[in-house]
Amino acid sequence: MDGSLEFPVATPPAPGETVAIAPGVHWLRMRLPFALNHINLWLLEDGPGWTIVDCGYALDETREAWERIFIERLGSKPVRRVIVTHFHPDHMGLAAWLTKRWNAPLWTTEKEWLHARVHSRDDDSAASRREFALRAGLDEESSTIFSERQGNYRRGCPAVPPVFQRIGEGSAIEIGGREWRVIIGEGHAPEHACLFCAETGVLIAGDQILPRISPNISVQPYEPEGDPLARYLASLKKLRVALPPDILVLPSHNLPFYGVHERIDELAAHHAARCDDVITACARPASAADLLPVLFRRQLDRHQMGFALGEALAHLHYLESQRAIRRQAGGDGVHRFAV
Ligand SMILES: [Zn+2]
Repeated sequence: MDGSLEFPVATPPAPGETVAIAPGVHWLRMRLPFALNHINLWLLEDGPGWTIVDCGYALDETREAWERIFIERLGSKPVRRVIVTHFHPDHMGLAAWLTKRWNAPLWTTEKEWLHARVHSRDDDSAASRREFALRAGLDEESSTIFSERQGNYRRGCPAVPPVFQRIGEGSAIEIGGREWRVIIGEGHAPEHACLFCAETGVLIAGDQILPRISPNISVQPYEPEGDPLARYLASLKKLRVALPPDILVLPSHNLPFYGVHERIDELAAHHAARCDDVITACARPASAADLLPVLFRRQLDRHQMGFALGEALAHLHYLESQRAIRRQAGGDGVHRFAV
């Protein structure tokens, strides 16, 4: 799927190491305790200090890798600022620790900060998550697992800074004498900040555009009627217009790449193909759970099934809003969709 993309560096940095990847930008990588086993983070030269972009998941080994970087890679300069692209725990996770460690401010968008604050304190939503899964057609046991899996934000993000500085669409951030513009993406997260430096032709893309996997676009249990795929596709269009074709993209997962327009087109085509599959499958009424074997051709374990459920619903809700399919609420409480 990435035949049209070009990857200038084949080997990522080991944990605790950094690689200069663009003017003033250093690439580092931390481990994640999932099938997606790593995240890319960025350290930007910022005059008398450094700006960190994204923080890593709250693991002891990640705090240790950061400490090694602080000793070996900062040239005795302090971290002045922590920017977080979006609230997911692999990005926001260690923000409270980093900002305290350096007495540095957190810069992020308002919605991402609010989501992080809410999710890190959430303790009364297990029942609504379970109801969400049952309505989508999962069985009792899978619904319980879904509810528990979705409820562990605090494991990766135990605390969120109580104060933040707001960035948003069009914000200009001066970092090390260069201007980085914020471009907001939606669909993967509510107000995801991408950072674009026109002078050097570099985009810090977060999870909005990834080279080898398609970003997770899921209906969330806390907004069960959401249509995140419509938001995501609109954001892809906006990014394609805003970004020149020849820039270097620094994604949060996999490798930095050239070919941003090609990748945006591939991601849009991927969702269009999934939508076609869903329409075909909805020749007979189908729940989100019924669609999992159609959308995910590999065998899913119960944990992956929970993850995939939100994605199936995202395609169903998008097609419903496009009037390509219609919803039927069954007597069993399960929502099914048909053409
Ligand atoms: Zn994310």
